[in-house]
Amino acid sequence: MNKSNQDFLPFALPEIGEEEIAEVVNALRSGWVTTGPKARQFEADFVSFLGGGVEAVAVNSATAGLHLGLEALGVGPGDEVITTTHTFTATAEIIRYLGADPVFVDVDADTLCIDVAAVEAAITPRTKAIIPVHFAGRSADMDALLAVARKHDLRVMEDAAHALPTTCSGKMIGTLDSDVTVFSFYANKTITTGEGGMLVTRNPEIAKRARVMRLHGINRDAFDRFTAKTPSWYYEIVAPGFKYNMTDIAASMGVHQLKKAHVFQQKRARVAALYDEALASLPVIRPPHAGAGDVHSWHLYVIQLDNSVAVQRDQFVERMFNQGIGCSVHYIPLHLHPYWRDTYHLTPEMFPVSQRIYERTLSLPMYSRMTEADVVRVVEAVKVALK
Ligand SMILES: *Cc1c(COP(=O)(O)O)cnc(C)c1O
Repeated sequence: MNKSNQDFLPFALPEIGEEEIAEVVNALRSGWVTTGPKARQFEADFVSFLGGGVEAVAVNSATAGLHLGLEALGVGPGDEVITTTHTFTATAEIIRYLGADPVFVDVDADTLCIDVAAVEAAITPRTKAIIPVHFAGRSADMDALLAVARKHDLRVMEDAAHALPTTCSGKMIGTLDSDVTVFSFYANKTITTGEGGMLVTRNPEIAKRARVMRLHGINRDAFDRFTAKTPSWYYEIVAPGFKYNMTDIAASMGVHQLKKAHVFQQKRARVAALYDEALASLPVIRPPHAGAGDVHSWHLYVIQLDNSVAVQRDQFVERMFNQGIGCSVHYIPLHLHPYWRDTYHLTPEMFPVSQRIYERTLSLPMYSRMTEADVVRVVEAVKVALK
C-alpha cells in the first residue's frame, strides 16, 4: 500500500512537447497518415544527427529493425548468432525468427555489456554474427568486439535500443564500423515515437534490402521506375517481406524528439550525477560510467545492492513501491526465462556475472523530466528501504 500522500513517482516518463503534438495534428489533417513525407524527413534528420555517411530506415519498432538487419545480413537456419544473456528478449527472439540459434554469453562486470573474451570463446564454424547491447546507454567495448569480428569474418549488428545519443571512443553509436545499428523509440526510451525504431547502416545493399523487406518485399525501384511512366498501380514483389514501416504519425513525434535528444541526454546525465553524489555514502554499487570523454545516454540508472545489505532485492523494490517510487529490474537474464533456458539448456552457472548482478540489481527512476526534488525523494526512499 502506498502510505505516502505524494503522487506516485514512476520509473519512466516520456517528455512530449507542444511541437510533437502540433506535428502529429498536422499529419492527421494532411490526409497522409501512413509512411510518407514525415517518415522520410525523420530518416534524413536522423542521418544528419549522426553526422552523415550512413543510411537510416524507419521502422515500427526496434524489434522489427533488428529482424530486418539480421535478415539483410543473410542469417538463416543452421547459423549461430552470439549475444548477451543480460538483455531484453527482443535481442534474441529475432535470431529465432530467422531459424538461426542464439549463443548466449556472459557480461563484463565493469561495463554490464557483452564480455568480448567470452564472445571469442563462443565462436564456432557456424557463427555468423554478433549482437552487442549498449546496456543502459553505456557503449559496449566496440573496439575490441569489432577486432574479434574482423579476425573471424563475422557480421556485427548493434542493439542500440538504449544508446541515443551514446558515443564509443568519440564516435556516435550508429557510425561505427559495424554492419547494422538499431535504435528504439519505444515509450520509455531516450526519445520516443510511441512505438518505433531506426535501422542504420553504412552499407547501401543492407539499406536497400531492409527498405524492400520493411514493406512486403515490394521492389521500390520497379515501383518508382514504372510510376514515372504509368499510373501508380504497378509494383513487383521480390520477396515475402514484412509489415514494418513507420507511420507518419509516429515520425511526426520523432522529428521533434530527435531535435531534443542532446538536451534530454544532458538532463538525464544531471539526474545520474545527482544520484551518484547522493548514493556515494550508501551500501550500493553505482552504475558504470562511459569511458573517458565518451557520452552515456543514461537510458537507465541501474544500481546493485552491496553484499553487506541484508535486505533482498525483491523486498527492496517492494519497499520502494510502498514509498510511492517505481523501480524496475534490468534484466531478468534470458538464461532464466523458460523458453531460452529449456531450448538451449542454460543454467545460472554458465553466466556467473549476469546471475550475480541480476540477484542484486534494480533500476531507479530515470527520465528527462525528473527534478532535483524527485531525485531527493528517491534517495530518501532508498535510505529507508536499505534499513
Ligand atoms: C526496448 C528494447 C528493444 C526493443 O525495442 P522495441 O522498439 O520495443 O521493439 C530491444 N532491445 C533492447 C535492449 C531494448 O531495451
